[in-house]
Amino acid sequence: DVCSSDLHELKGAIDRREFVLHYQPLVHIESGRVASLEALVRWNHPERGLIFPDAFIGVAEECGLIGDLGRAVLFEACTQTRDWLDRGIPAVPVAVNFSAKQFQTGNPVDEVRECLEATGLSPEYLDIELTESAVMRDPALATETLRRMRDLGLRVAIDDFGTGHSSLAYLKRFPITKLKIDRAFVSALMRDPKDAAICRAIISMAHNLQLKAVAEGVEETRQLEFLRHPGCDEVQGYLFARPQDAEKTERLLAGTSPLEASPVGDATGRN
Ligand code: C2E
Ligand code: MG
Ligand code: MG
Repeated sequence: DVCSSDLHELKGAIDRREFVLHYQPLVHIESGRVASLEALVRWNHPERGLIFPDAFIGVAEECGLIGDLGRAVLFEACTQTRDWLDRGIPAVPVAVNFSAKQFQTGNPVDEVRECLEATGLSPEYLDIELTESAVMRDPALATETLRRMRDLGLRVAIDDFGTGHSSLAYLKRFPITKLKIDRAFVSALMRDPKDAAICRAIISMAHNLQLKAVAEGVEETRQLEFLRHPGCDEVQGYLFARPQDAEKTERLLAGTSPLEASPVGDATGRN
């Protein structure tokens, strides 16, 4: 059947280490500094070239391989960050995405603890990103898992916020530290006043809940200027940097290659 051939192919790819991580910076608006990096997995396929995660994460979940893939990603992100720190590169925390199934059916807390022990990375260098659907399927269990993650010393962000099923009653209780506004709202905010209103409302709600607000998918200076006014904390998107391999990311961290744009000040000179 379909799954057994996919299973075979994906398993082989994990064993042959064909999955690679690219890193995209989250930029602090006020200081212009890189606050953290998001690790984004790609499949470096020998014949088909670079394959993006939307094409294989779902398949890995269905075939029961998301646990293996997720552990490989977590291990690589932690190993890379530890390596940068060891070599005196000014590293920043790395954010790793957990899929819904990986969060619900695996033992995410044990996996993270074991990975930190194995790589020797300090927990303040690891962030976890979870979607609303991952935490809202069983919010009581998620609250407990999130508390154990926080007790390990990690920070958890809710990814793609505003597009899943969120219960605000649970959101206020989750021990999380940031909300990432889904890029659908960000990309439409200059065209549609309703998307602009949603972005503003999410930023304000995040702050009232003592959470940081991050906007993903920022591609234009106008979007950045809009997000600055309600006090969005961090921005991520092609305007600043595309996800890039470890080598290029290292140059960014070391300060030898700058971001494409700085969020500090603005193009109109208003500052
Ligand atoms: P995500 O976590 O919301 O990641 C952000 C996605 O937006 C990434 O797509 C990134 O390349 C893209 N992006 C960033 N800036 C811009 C921009 O300015 N414009 C546009 N149009 N796109 C931008 P990518 O790398 O294709 O990843 C897609 C999704 O796959 C991720 O969404 C995440 O949910 C999932 N994913 C990626 N890596 C992993 C992983 O290691 N494990 C798991 N479970 N899921 C992953
Ligand atoms: Mg993410
Ligand atoms: Mg997202």
